[in-house]
Amino acid sequence: MSEPPFDCAVVGAGPAGLAAATAAAGEGLRVALVDAGPRPGGQFWRHAEGSTGAGQHDWATFTRLADALRRGIAAGLIHHVPLHQVWTVDRAGPAPFTLRLTPAYEGAGGEGPPVGQVAARAVVLCPGGYDRQLPVPGWTTPGVMAAGGVQALLKGQGTVAGRRVVVAGTGPFLLPVATGLAAAGARVVALCEAASPARWLRRPLAAAAVPGKAVEGAGYAAGLLRHRVPYLPRTVVTRVHGTQEVTAVTVERVDGSGRVVPGRTRRLDADLVAFGWGFTPSLELALALGADTERGADGSLVATVDTARRATVPGVYLAGEATGVGGAAKAVAEGELAGLTAAVDAGRPVSRRRGRRLAARIARAETFADAMHRAHPVPEHWTEWLSEETRLCRCEEVSVGDVQRAQDGLGAGDPRTAKLLARPGMGRCQGRVCGFATASLLASRAGRPVTGDDLRAPAKRPLGAPVTLAELAALPEPEEPGRPDGPEAPPPAPSVDTA
Ligand SMILES: Cc1cc2nc3c(=O)[nH]c(=O)nc-3n(C[C@H](O)[C@H](O)[C@H](O)COP(=O)(O)OP(=O)(O)OC[C@H]3O[C@@H](n4cnc5c(N)ncnc54)[C@H](O)[C@@H]3O)c2cc1C
Repeated sequence: MSEPPFDCAVVGAGPAGLAAATAAAGEGLRVALVDAGPRPGGQFWRHAEGSTGAGQHDWATFTRLADALRRGIAAGLIHHVPLHQVWTVDRAGPAPFTLRLTPAYEGAGGEGPPVGQVAARAVVLCPGGYDRQLPVPGWTTPGVMAAGGVQALLKGQGTVAGRRVVVAGTGPFLLPVATGLAAAGARVVALCEAASPARWLRRPLAAAAVPGKAVEGAGYAAGLLRHRVPYLPRTVVTRVHGTQEVTAVTVERVDGSGRVVPGRTRRLDADLVAFGWGFTPSLELALALGADTERGADGSLVATVDTARRATVPGVYLAGEATGVGGAAKAVAEGELAGLTAAVDAGRPVSRRRGRRLAARIARAETFADAMHRAHPVPEHWTEWLSEETRLCRCEEVSVGDVQRAQDGLGAGDPRTAKLLARPGMGRCQGRVCGFATASLLASRAGRPVTGDDLRAPAKRPLGAPVTLAELAALPEPEEPGRPDGPEAPPPAPSVDTA
């Protein structure tokens, strides 16, 4: 006999997913918490085994959530499945949702058999996001990494990815990366910030809405001073030098729109370049479930949710970066609210006051996130830093020129058509890395802004993670549509509990 479905399955054990799973279990729901990582914490609280939280921010919140997780597991309410990725959610089984799982890597998951699937009545998606990358000439040279990847190596393994480092891009996330590397012994030769910090002065109230952020920012500023890290505003890396490995970068001053200011070029020696241009929400599972999307404050595609975190598909809830990039504190509040709403919709009585308090916290965090995105936009004219030979899609080795020729000669005006005619986004990463860049390039050459449809096409991926052919072959045959014992739609949502 198969196991009864969980009341709720939570995907992702980062700040949002941990808060969602523990809040839902706190209201008595049986929860499955599936996460690709070996330990809970996600990207923000990524840590090595036995960590005491040294160098981490807001570790007290993590400790509180991790304790609640342990209590939930001990009470038999939370079933934690680490080291497994959800690669698809199907709706053709006896439960409303069946999550198909694959080990995060070959041999992951320890000695027991890998968990193949989890059935649930509701799903809370908290998959976070990944680094947004903008290609520049030379960016595929060994020694160029995403800033998030550099940070993940440092936090997860204590590995310092280079000795002479340039950190470049835009946004406050560059600060912990630069100070973390410097504190770990790397020489950070420059932090190149494309925007001007003066942009924050246009929205002082937004910064004041979350006082903890100002304190965090002051700490990073002190760290840059202590380690003598040069902070170069309105400066970008326009070329990476080196053939076998990175040896240097060209940095240039830019104006407020990202256009290079002539005559302000410098060359800096480096063996590691950490690029960070913000994050892109992970939307594979939300899109596969048919959830609606919209443009977020930073122009990214984000999943649409109501004020209680319900997606536009009944029984699906979302929290964290997938609904808009804004940091861990925002993700925690959203996750808690999503878990509580799942409990309300399952018929549990939940305090309205708690819902209102969380909604207010989320609104303050959104005000801050909005100001952050306006202060650190992707520079409008960044595609002018590219040359025809610059590689756009690493997986399929497609150059900027290839895409330009498909646009000019074959009428490929949007990323989907460009993918069919020139192959950007056709490889293993399925456009995760090049999707935004391809959309920006095509739109800027057509003299129009990037649209939601441009971003939606590369974000749609039938498989949320790579799987083996054996796993695909093991899928049950799809049922005939309209069968009388088909999956039940969850009941309609009761009224939102944050009003
Ligand atoms: C690489 C990286 C490093 C970062 N480092 C920092 C930092 O040092 N400081 C900082 O302020 N911000 C950092 N951020 C931003 C930070 O992630 C967010 O502010 C915050 O962690 C968001 O919380 P979340 O719960 O939405 O997502 P996350 O913390 O990203 O958690 C999502 C979790 O879901 C899991 N997951 C995703 N998809 C699946 C799937 N299909 N199946 C199973 N599990 C899945 C992931 O493995 C992850 O554990 C980083 C972001 C990235 C991408």
